[in-house]
Amino acid sequence: MKIDLLTIFPEFFRGPLDFGILRRARETGLVEASVHDLREFTRDKHRTVDDRPFGGGEGMVLKPEPIFECIEKLGVAAQAKRIAPRVAGANADWSNGDHPRRESVILLSAQGRRLDQALAHELSQLNRIVLICGRYEGVDERVAEHLASEEISIGDFVLSGGELPAALVLDAVTRLLPGALGNEASSQNESFSLLERAEKSQTGALHRALSHGRNVLDFPHYTRPADFRGWKVPEVLIGGNHAEVAKWRERMAFEKTLRNRPDLYQQAEEPV
Ligand code: SAH
Repeated sequence: MKIDLLTIFPEFFRGPLDFGILRRARETGLVEASVHDLREFTRDKHRTVDDRPFGGGEGMVLKPEPIFECIEKLGVAAQAKRIAPRVAGANADWSNGDHPRRESVILLSAQGRRLDQALAHELSQLNRIVLICGRYEGVDERVAEHLASEEISIGDFVLSGGELPAALVLDAVTRLLPGALGNEASSQNESFSLLERAEKSQTGALHRALSHGRNVLDFPHYTRPADFRGWKVPEVLIGGNHAEVAKWRERMAFEKTLRNRPDLYQQAEEPV
C-alpha cells in the first residue's frame, strides 16, 4: 500500500513512522510512506501556504493551490475513487479484489466521517491512500468539495492539526494489512473485531451480539508474575483448560464492555 502524507510539518512524521509495526511494514515493503511538504508546492518567495478567511474572522486557512498541485503531481485523480456507498460499507467483503476503488484522497477534518475499525478495514483494502493534514482554522473548502474523496475525523474533539489524526489512520490501517503483525499478534482477536471472534465463539454469545449489531471489546490480558503484590492472575488462566479459558475470556469481554462502553452494547443480554 502506498501512503502519501501532505503536511506543512513534514518532520512531524519522523516519530510515528519509525517505530514498531509501522517501521517493520515499511522495511519489508508492505507500505511505502511518503511525506510531502506543502511549502514545496508554493510559488512565492515566502512559500505561503495559508491566507486570511473570506468573510472575516479569526485565524488563517490553508490555501487550495499547494494541495491541489501536490496531488496532481502524485498522479492521483481528484475524487476519482469516491468511497463505496455507505450501505455497502462496514461489512462488505472486497477481499476478492472487487473493491470499487483502489485509492482514496482523505482530508483529515473534525467534520468528517468518524474513524472506527470498520472504516479502517475499508481503507486497508485500498492500494493507495493520500492523507491531507489541515492546520489553523482548517482547509479551503474546495479541497473537500473537489479534491478529497472523503473527510475523516478521529473523534468528536478539535485538534490543532491533521498530523496526529493522519498518524492514527496510518497505524490503524497498516496493522490490518496481511503480514503486518507477523506472529506476535493477530488483529482478529481484539476489540471491535467481532466477526472473526464470533466464528470461534465457545458459547454463541458473540454470535448473538453480532446479530444484534453490537460490538464487544477485547478480554483482559495477564502475564507473569502470577502473583504481583498480592494481586493474583485469575485461576482459570493458569489451569490449562483451553475451553474454560475461552469461555472466561468471552465473559470478561462482555463484562468489560458493559462496564466501560455500555453504548457499544446497549440492551445487554445476560452475559455468558
Ligand atoms: N475549524 C475546524 C477545526 C480546525 S483544526 C473545525 O472547527 O472543525 C485544524 C486541522 O486539524 C483541521 O483542518 C484538521 O485537519 C485537523 N483536525 C482537527 N480536529 C480533527 C479531528 N477530530 N479529526 C481529524 N482531523 C482533525
